[in-house]
Amino acid sequence: MNFAQLGICPEILEAIDMLGFETPSPIQEQAIPPALDGADIVGLSHTGSGKTLAFAIPALESIDPALRAVQVLCLAPTRELAVQICREVDKLAMYLDGVSAVPIYGGASFGPQLSALKRGVQFVVGTPGRIIDLMEQGELRTDAVSTLILDEADEMLDMGFQEDIERIVVSLPEQRQTLFFSATMSHPIRELIKRISHDPREIAVERPVLTVPTCEQVAYEVLFSSRIEVLSRLIEMGRMKRGLVFANTKRVVDDVVDGLLARGYSVDRLHGDMPQTLRERVMESFRKGNLNVLVATDIAARGLDIDDVDMVVNFELPREPEDYVHRIGRTARAGRKGRAVTFFGRRDFSLMGRIERFVGTRMQREQVMTADEVEQMRREALVDDILEKAARSHELPEELRDLDMPEEKLMCAMFHLLAERASREIQPIPEDRPKRHGRVAEDELPVEKGNDWSLQESVTLFMNAGKMLHIRPKDIAGLLYNEGGAPKGSIGDIRMFPKHSLIEVSPEVAPRLVERLATASICGYEVNIREDKGRPAPRPSFRNNDDFRPRERQRRDRDSRDSRKRETRFYDRFNRRPRRG
Ligand code: AMP
Repeated sequence: MNFAQLGICPEILEAIDMLGFETPSPIQEQAIPPALDGADIVGLSHTGSGKTLAFAIPALESIDPALRAVQVLCLAPTRELAVQICREVDKLAMYLDGVSAVPIYGGASFGPQLSALKRGVQFVVGTPGRIIDLMEQGELRTDAVSTLILDEADEMLDMGFQEDIERIVVSLPEQRQTLFFSATMSHPIRELIKRISHDPREIAVERPVLTVPTCEQVAYEVLFSSRIEVLSRLIEMGRMKRGLVFANTKRVVDDVVDGLLARGYSVDRLHGDMPQTLRERVMESFRKGNLNVLVATDIAARGLDIDDVDMVVNFELPREPEDYVHRIGRTARAGRKGRAVTFFGRRDFSLMGRIERFVGTRMQREQVMTADEVEQMRREALVDDILEKAARSHELPEELRDLDMPEEKLMCAMFHLLAERASREIQPIPEDRPKRHGRVAEDELPVEKGNDWSLQESVTLFMNAGKMLHIRPKDIAGLLYNEGGAPKGSIGDIRMFPKHSLIEVSPEVAPRLVERLATASICGYEVNIREDKGRPAPRPSFRNNDDFRPRERQRRDRDSRDSRKRETRFYDRFNRRPRRG
């Protein structure tokens, strides 16, 4: 099959030839002919399948170049995607005289977008919020729209754009073609398709198998500051005999290795800056089983022959979904069982969604094993060891024979002695506390600035409007994405109070958001957004074991102070550096 057999016009065929595409991808092969015949299409396909061409070609062919009005309206979840689609459309339209596309998104000045509309651009690709603004201002007329495209519809719904999409759709002519693309299907998507399209042709392309069923994929929501402790618990509880831990930068790799070494584990690192000979030595050690845990960056691990790993831990979410697949592909090889554990934070929800959509599986959300549970398991393991030893019937040591002490008391003392000696001290983490609504309780999360335990890499913004004005979190998210130009995944929790709202955003985008949205408009109200100065919150205290003997308590206090100092230094350093630096 070649592109000419799909019935594409000569001008676009020439452009395809110029672009160097030879054979249509499955989604193009199946979607283009019916779409050229005017059918509505529902395409289930992922990024990388060639879906942009699949909708852009029929849409371009439907345009009347002589008519200087918007004829194709394409909705996309983010400005990046809108720009990318426009680039592809412009390339395909290189031989179509007088046909061009413009991206319309929030956070950029209206000027160039307005002048493109005034010039009579026919193909508009935009994010829903800004499209609505321009429609309401009368700058974007939709009466000549004959093709509506929704790209990455699932992501738009995840971002809370459903109402906006429906508002846009009702203003379009009834007589139109709808081309709908989504990586996943769900009940709300089905409902939306029913409402906005007419007897659509459904096309699903098989995604390549990316992960293996014998790999159990688990995710823990963990504060960054708790992750070394959680990792230690995983190692200790025998859940990681030969584990590979991934971090995004060599600085985090170093910090994780130092943290684990300090806790007494056999661990080493692998990152790009290490000389080849040293890397080989580390690899050899890992292969021979002298090391339990290897901590690596993606680049360092790529191309290395490491398999037969029983657990992969993503200490941080990889930045690209492809890296997730590479990482977890190191376990569950050749039909063996494996486990992939992923740590994620409160502002990672969008990236998590992207990874899961890409992989096509949902990671099982699990609760972190608490200090009490670890303690309990340790005690049970100790009893098992004692019973095993007892089964081999040893003689009573001479030194114990003449002791004038009840056996039970002696056994008790021995048990405690062994329990104390056998293992490292468990460090309390906020995740050990009782959860409310499945999360660390809000008043236990020290979010104010400058706190030793502040959430890793997030800044809280304050908005002087809240629930009393019937504003919803999705309205705020829309404002930040569209007007503020916040990139995907840069917005975390939005907490609404009667008269104000607190919004967690990544530090890199905070200054831009504050600058652009110092005065903004939301649901018809003028609001101000600024960095939250925070209220003093009680520092969490984890020393709740009143039954410690005084000396032990003193030692615990001292250790805890020292470790907190270490943690502070560790995270201070981390905080000062941009994530993607
Ligand atoms: P998409 O899924 O639309 O994001 O496309 C993914 C990438 O594949 C883009 O870089 C396209 O330029 C490229 N592409 C699309 N169709 C083809 C094709 N038929 N042959 C080769 N590359 C293609």
